[in-house]
Amino acid sequence: MRDINELRAAIKSAVDAEKEQLIEIGRHIWKNPEPGYREVKTSKYLVEKLKALGLQVKENLALTGFRADIDTGKPGPTLAIMGELDSLIIPTHPEADKETGAIHACGHNSSATAIIGTAIGLLKSGVLNDMSGKIALIATPAEEGIELEYRLVLIREGKIGSIAGKPQLIREGVFDDVDLAYMTHLTSGNFGFNDHNGSIQKIVTFKGKSCHAASPQNGINAQNAVCLAQNAIAFMREKYSNSDKIRIHGIISYCGNSSNVIPDEARMEYMLRAPSIPELVALGKRFDNAVTHASLAAECTCTIDTISGYMPLFDNMKLGQVLKDTVEYLKPGAPFNFNNSFFSSCTDMGDVASIVPGVHGYCPGYSGASHSASMHITDEYSSYVTMSMLNAELCLNLLYGDAATAKEIATDRKGLLSIPEYIKLIDQFDGSITSEYKE
Ligand SMILES: [Zn+2]
Ligand SMILES: [Zn+2]
Repeated sequence: MRDINELRAAIKSAVDAEKEQLIEIGRHIWKNPEPGYREVKTSKYLVEKLKALGLQVKENLALTGFRADIDTGKPGPTLAIMGELDSLIIPTHPEADKETGAIHACGHNSSATAIIGTAIGLLKSGVLNDMSGKIALIATPAEEGIELEYRLVLIREGKIGSIAGKPQLIREGVFDDVDLAYMTHLTSGNFGFNDHNGSIQKIVTFKGKSCHAASPQNGINAQNAVCLAQNAIAFMREKYSNSDKIRIHGIISYCGNSSNVIPDEARMEYMLRAPSIPELVALGKRFDNAVTHASLAAECTCTIDTISGYMPLFDNMKLGQVLKDTVEYLKPGAPFNFNNSFFSSCTDMGDVASIVPGVHGYCPGYSGASHSASMHITDEYSSYVTMSMLNAELCLNLLYGDAATAKEIATDRKGLLSIPEYIKLIDQFDGSITSEYKE
């Protein structure tokens, strides 16, 4: 067996040799953004790249996702390396798609590119002979919890069971044989990893009665219910201290269309975030209570559809240590956040990391604020090339020799759920309640 340092250098130079191609892929996806469960072109484009590398690809997983396996031919654990396909929608971003407003303002085009870069790093370096087990490259759709009404339609049509891609892939059995999982997300900060909040999503529909707005006494104004509900929701924040890490935020998705008609329908989409399942359950109940009573005060009928969003993310510390060592090899002395701050945002990597040991790592590459019109990729080499190296080097470090490191981490299942337990847990959130106003 060759020395691991020789193999590490081989991966680094194999990926670096394809840097022009990787930067071109990253730019192509940036220029062709598609939001969740609509990533048809992005998926096709990447699948062709993987097929060109000689890999077989299972397509149409969770609608637009795919999986390609790289098998060392020797028995051992299956390590999932993921990349995300979906964009956000921020029409005011200067580079947003003119028609759809879509833009990769979370940098998912980098982790999507790194799927190809990881394959290049493993296949073109000749390292597989000195590794055991399997690498499952998984492209995951719909990480961002947006366009809830569209996704609720997909759920009602039976096309998906979860609004986010990774839970949907888990439902479809894509992770059944996976033993441990990793993905890198782009950041404007340091290398590292951090635990995250979990979430549930709410779609609220208020129904009233339309009439001429010059005689409002003849109608029931659904907009008034939105107004009261948003105030009641805002007052809920008094119940939480900073250390509770609760986040409550939403939008009015529809609120009438003519100022001379009293709106008979208004809708809101909300996201509720908390660091644990019991806190999410309690937060959801408090939200339902506030909204229902606001609706009654406005004499409206309201329906609250609740959909599970993301599990809280608890990173695996042993895998986090392997990530730290890998970063130290690639970027000696680079600052590394070893789970030393909690992120109030969510990721569906939390779902994967609740069924297998997992880590959601970060690699620097952009400036400006995430999820905003100011986000821009400023370091293309780091975003597409370094991230690819990082993924491939991590695979080597975990699966080198008889894959002893991966085997040990795979047994570290404290607090993890079986897939049926996980599905039962997230399904408990889904449901619909209607509160009718009676005179
Ligand atoms: Zn995001
Ligand atoms: Zn993201």
